[in-house]
Amino acid sequence: MISPQASFVVQADWIVPVDSGPVQNGSVVVDNGIIQFVGTQLPSKFHSISRFKLAGFAILPGLINSHCHLEFSDLQAPIPLGISFPEWIRNLLAHRNAKNIEPEQLAMNRRDAITMGIQESYRAGVRWVVDMTTLPWSSTWITDSVNSLAKEAAYDPVVGEVGLVPRVPICIQPCIELLDIAPQRFELAMSFADKQGSAPESESIGRMGYAPHAPYTTSRNVTKRSAELSQAEDRLVTMHLAESMEEMDWIQDRQGPFSELLGRIISQDYFGGLGQISEHVQLLTNAWRAMIAHGNYLSTIDLNKLASHSANCAIVHCPRTHQFFGHRYLDMAQYPLAERIAIGVKHFLGTDSRASNPDLNLWNEAKQVRRDHSKISSLQIIKMITTEAAEFLCIQDRYGSLIEGQPATLTAIELPKFASSTSTSACGENQVDLYDQLLASDSVSSPLELVLLSKNRPSNT
Ligand SMILES: [Zn+2]
Repeated sequence: MISPQASFVVQADWIVPVDSGPVQNGSVVVDNGIIQFVGTQLPSKFHSISRFKLAGFAILPGLINSHCHLEFSDLQAPIPLGISFPEWIRNLLAHRNAKNIEPEQLAMNRRDAITMGIQESYRAGVRWVVDMTTLPWSSTWITDSVNSLAKEAAYDPVVGEVGLVPRVPICIQPCIELLDIAPQRFELAMSFADKQGSAPESESIGRMGYAPHAPYTTSRNVTKRSAELSQAEDRLVTMHLAESMEEMDWIQDRQGPFSELLGRIISQDYFGGLGQISEHVQLLTNAWRAMIAHGNYLSTIDLNKLASHSANCAIVHCPRTHQFFGHRYLDMAQYPLAERIAIGVKHFLGTDSRASNPDLNLWNEAKQVRRDHSKISSLQIIKMITTEAAEFLCIQDRYGSLIEGQPATLTAIELPKFASSTSTSACGENQVDLYDQLLASDSVSSPLELVLLSKNRPSNT
């Protein structure tokens, strides 16, 4: 039996730090859930510790999902699209506010859905989730489900307790949703954000951020306040912006399907502060860090503004959600990812929620980008869900790369059969590019510790 928090060595076909070249037939040493060594020549002091051999796998840094709504993770299938984006929202709200449910039961349902989302994310190799958070919500729901995952991954029925997993296998960063279309909800959410923002920080809960919802529910006053708080407190701001043509129509002249959805609930406070898309973009450039979800219909002027603020502003593209909504306007069926990156707009990837996506597997999003965008390199795609996302979120001291001293929140990618052969190369010259192979349609991502438990037993040979 291996004692908890034991040291161990994992050898794999490829070790892929992402921010430096891949290492073929390399090793990673983990001790107490912390990376101790990454490379080919295992130092002699590690020769006697337990060793796992993972043939047909690559080891990457843990994946970072930059946009998610965990609260909808109980959905078995996406919410039907209907005839317009507002109709989809109406169906989504009907699911969220199911009638004849007592508040206590509603909270328990919400807790269960969030727990399912955390479990699903973790099992796909995701180690950090930026979550759009609405009430009811409790930090204990997060810590309980993270702790139970840690416990599950630290026990093997054959060998007993094993020290394979870092103490915190996945971290959730809540961004509190703010909207003032209904003033009571704004006050409630803001006082909850005040309380949560001053709560002691926990390793399984990332630094709280603000999520002014969208221009059709959030006035420019709320976006301004969120950006100011973000700057003053070093907090992330994230906002849905220019997502659908219906949103653009309504913001422009209060026409189209949104007028029917919003007409009855709109408050005068909000209406007086209704902001154009470009006003929200301008306000977000004042934030410490701002992530714009989707941004499909942003103007060239706004995109150039984001490019000139790429140190603190980025777009989160959610590839399969984009596909789900089937954007048909302005040639938007294919999101212009390569063109936008080329002018300097920073991009990351998210799953959005199960209301518009069949699962929360971020690796599947990366593979979707690989299929859709031939002009973007596979390495660039992988950076969007590892190193570059970690740097933008300022969590690079703990996530996003394979560096000695960092928590071993590692993702194992099961390679297609032919990829682990000698025809694969790190440089790709006259050979199959390793990063392309990682994103091949049949590659699979998992947390390293679960792969070790399911496929291997340690040996000292
Ligand atoms: Zn979203």
